[in-house]
Amino acid sequence: MIETSEKIFENDDRVVTPEVTGDDSDIEVSLRPKCLAEYIGQDKAKENLAVYIEAAKRRNEPLDHVLLYGPPGLGKTTLSGIIAHEMGSNLRITSGPAIEKPGDLAALLTNLSENDVLFIDEIHRLSRSIEEILYPALEDNVLDIMIGKGPSARSIRIDLPKFTLVGATTRAGQLTPPLRDRFGVVLRLELYSSEQLCDIIRRSSMILGIPCDPDGAAEIAGRARGTPRIANRLLKRVRDFADVIGNGVITKDIASIALDRLEIDPLGLDSIDKRMLTMIIKGYNGGPVGLDTLASAIGEEAVTLEDMCEPFLMQLGFLARTPRGRCATKLAYEHLGFSRPDEQENGKQLSF
Ligand code: ADP
Repeated sequence: MIETSEKIFENDDRVVTPEVTGDDSDIEVSLRPKCLAEYIGQDKAKENLAVYIEAAKRRNEPLDHVLLYGPPGLGKTTLSGIIAHEMGSNLRITSGPAIEKPGDLAALLTNLSENDVLFIDEIHRLSRSIEEILYPALEDNVLDIMIGKGPSARSIRIDLPKFTLVGATTRAGQLTPPLRDRFGVVLRLELYSSEQLCDIIRRSSMILGIPCDPDGAAEIAGRARGTPRIANRLLKRVRDFADVIGNGVITKDIASIALDRLEIDPLGLDSIDKRMLTMIIKGYNGGPVGLDTLASAIGEEAVTLEDMCEPFLMQLGFLARTPRGRCATKLAYEHLGFSRPDEQENGKQLSF
């Protein structure tokens, strides 16, 4: 059983946003792998998790609390469902911002059954007062709640069933140390390789009944920014082009035409990435430039650049984060067709 208060993000205007858009909701559920064997890539996280799950099952105990971190769209929610499935438990899904009051968390926890998996997305956004209620629940399976106010206030303790918390965050650094310490298993999800994304696209095209040849899948994978959610979304968009300008089959040519029309370049960069890099190069002489300055210069939110652009640009080796700010690398200059300023002339090191 899956209960969800998951938020749909309003980022519909960017085809390559790794956040959930309204457009994804119809396919995401059907495409989610149900068990570890179906989950492609993330081998290190998967192998360790398989051991922890097996050990917990042998001891007949719930799995230790798990923290998953990494950029959006890499499969954190999917993995929480897999954990529940492999443990033979129910999954309850919520998110940090959805738990507004201590009573919201108390209601969630008291409704859990033995061995349930509670998934809290964006767990770094829980308020301090809510976190404090969570600590005894995680450690001793009890809930301490205050009843009444002033001198007549008293605390009552309620026993909770044993459960596993799976917390997901894009920003592990923002988690308070006491909360982070309560997770026995901490797994970092990495951006996927093109080969892994190609496997994901081929699996999705089979489930959705979209004819897609191997070169077509590879073309989409190469532009999907290391992110399964984007790969699946692009598959859906490219299918429309295959139906209208082709014979329904996604080939390399069709995929390439479609993705060019969607303004996603052969490496997966879109207009926001290009504006960001161009601003660093042309506006700030290659950097370093502070994130906030850069964001206001191109009219985007700093958090958008940090979460949606930077992980991928850094993976490509186009962007370097230094203590003094962001810098465009030699590869970024080359990809965008800019010549680099003379190193001798301005005395600047560009050897990233
Ligand atoms: P997150 O919670 O990290 O934002 P999700 O778990 O919602 O990401 O994954 C987004 C979509 O990507 C899911 O619908 C799922 O189909 C697909 N997906 C993610 N990881 C994998 C994977 N390892 N193998 C196959 N599909 C995946």
